[in-house]
Amino acid sequence: MERPPEMGGVWKRVVVIGGGVAGSLIAKSLQFHADVTLIDPKEYFEIPWASLRAMVEPSFAERSVIYHKDYLTNGRLVMSKAINISNSEVLTAKGRMVAYDYLVIATGHNDSFPETRTERLKEYRAENEKIKAAGSVLIVGGGPTGVELAAEIAVDHPDKRVVLVHDGSRLLEFIGPKAAGKTLEWLKSKNVEVRLRQSVDLNNSLEGSTTYVTSTGEIIKADCLFVCTGKPLASAWLKETVLKNSLDAFGRLKVDENLRVKGYKNIFAIGDIADVKEIKQGYLAQKHALIAAKNLKLMMTGGKENKMATLKPHSIKVIVSLGRYDAVAQFPLTTIIGLVPGLIKSKDLFVGKGKETVRPGPAPREFLSSIGGALSSICTIKGIILEKVHYSHRDSRPRGTNPPKLKAYTPASACNGNRRKEVPVKECTPKVYNRKEMAFKSGEPAAILPNPSYGNYNEMPEDWELRRVPAGPDPLHHNGHTPTKPRTP
Ligand SMILES: Cc1cc2nc3c(=O)[nH]c(=O)nc-3n(C[C@H](O)[C@H](O)[C@H](O)COP(=O)(O)OP(=O)(O)OC[C@H]3O[C@@H](n4cnc5c(N)ncnc54)[C@H](O)[C@@H]3O)c2cc1C
Repeated sequence: MERPPEMGGVWKRVVVIGGGVAGSLIAKSLQFHADVTLIDPKEYFEIPWASLRAMVEPSFAERSVIYHKDYLTNGRLVMSKAINISNSEVLTAKGRMVAYDYLVIATGHNDSFPETRTERLKEYRAENEKIKAAGSVLIVGGGPTGVELAAEIAVDHPDKRVVLVHDGSRLLEFIGPKAAGKTLEWLKSKNVEVRLRQSVDLNNSLEGSTTYVTSTGEIIKADCLFVCTGKPLASAWLKETVLKNSLDAFGRLKVDENLRVKGYKNIFAIGDIADVKEIKQGYLAQKHALIAAKNLKLMMTGGKENKMATLKPHSIKVIVSLGRYDAVAQFPLTTIIGLVPGLIKSKDLFVGKGKETVRPGPAPREFLSSIGGALSSICTIKGIILEKVHYSHRDSRPRGTNPPKLKAYTPASACNGNRRKEVPVKECTPKVYNRKEMAFKSGEPAAILPNPSYGNYNEMPEDWELRRVPAGPDPLHHNGHTPTKPRTP
């Protein structure tokens, strides 16, 4: 078994390619367990499902575009695209070679967002100005992005003409026809003009023109155009790498039930890029990240392969927001539209919870758990949606080894993994560590933290008690954030 750094061992190098929904969460989850490098072309992570609201309300983007450095406090960021990989290294577009022991590929879908957060926020403001100045808007694509954008504009700007053109026979083809039908009625009630089975030839539209022609010859005049036709997977670059034979016909990486690329013991693929047979949704990408993180921790501590977490198939649960108050939701047994599903998603769009997953400090929870708060009385819905991902630093020692000694750490050093320093118990302040429960000795101002790699509640002395740590930011840290201690590359 590998020795942890506090016992003189060396951390394994985990390289994560792609800092989106899945990549950012796994990087955050592993940063105190491994030497983590995140490779992403941008300096920020963005919550994708907030992007359409951000177009009508740019201040929303201030909350949903988050610097990688704000949650990756104990890892390093390489700002570039990965362009090649070998069995031990990743090559970036800026010519840097990054060596790995374990690799996680989470490149999702292609995007062309600017490198800096400031530029991204500027883009949102420009798009908002464009919408505000337009009398009419044309949206091409009736998937979730096109539908959500049409709804946002129709609700915030009821005076504008909104036309939605979709080449399929119904909207939201990735979910059932019932949800699509209800959505169509809802959009019509907000005066959105929906054209189905039509396309717009954008290649032949003149630059600066405000006139568009559909495949049936209809002429649509629109001051402003948004193309929401889905982005290709960001896997083309893998075609020239050692993983070229691991891609399926759609460009997804073939994975086993532990989310490892088939045929490789140390390469994982998570999120939209993995060929898991399920709809491509952020909450599932987060689930992948947590499973892969668990498996990596097990492997890095010499755990047995047959103890690895496996991905279980899921029933479809989708919520498409329709403006600020309504939404359409498809659950396994029912499809509903209106204020009730709107309560779950539409007001905050899970941004609070999405931020929490990458917030420094306590263990990540899936953003969908917010549904529990909004609808706790509707037990069936809550039961269906709440994805209980148990994520804590449980005991990962092999059976039969000696129980770990309890140690006390200063809060700051406790946050910095291998730089941990033992201190006399009395100097130690209670601290919210990466778990929801913490051991406190009654009447003592000190918190004794079990070694996070080996922590096991059952081994607490009897005169210690477990207390639930209240939700929310760590009150013992500046602004609720874990102190940052950048690592030297
Ligand atoms: C507008 C919109 C609304 C959505 N709404 C919802 C919703 O309400 N609920 C829900 O569950 N899901 C929703 N989704 C789907 C969800 O966002 C995706 O399933 C999720 O983002 C997939 O996560 P990922 O980490 O696999 O990929 P992404 O989040 O796409 O992240 C990929 C990352 O990899 C980076 N990257 C790409 N290529 C490279 C490379 N070569 N090297 C390095 N980095 C690279 C990208 O820059 C990006 O940062 C929505 C998606 C969109 C676009």
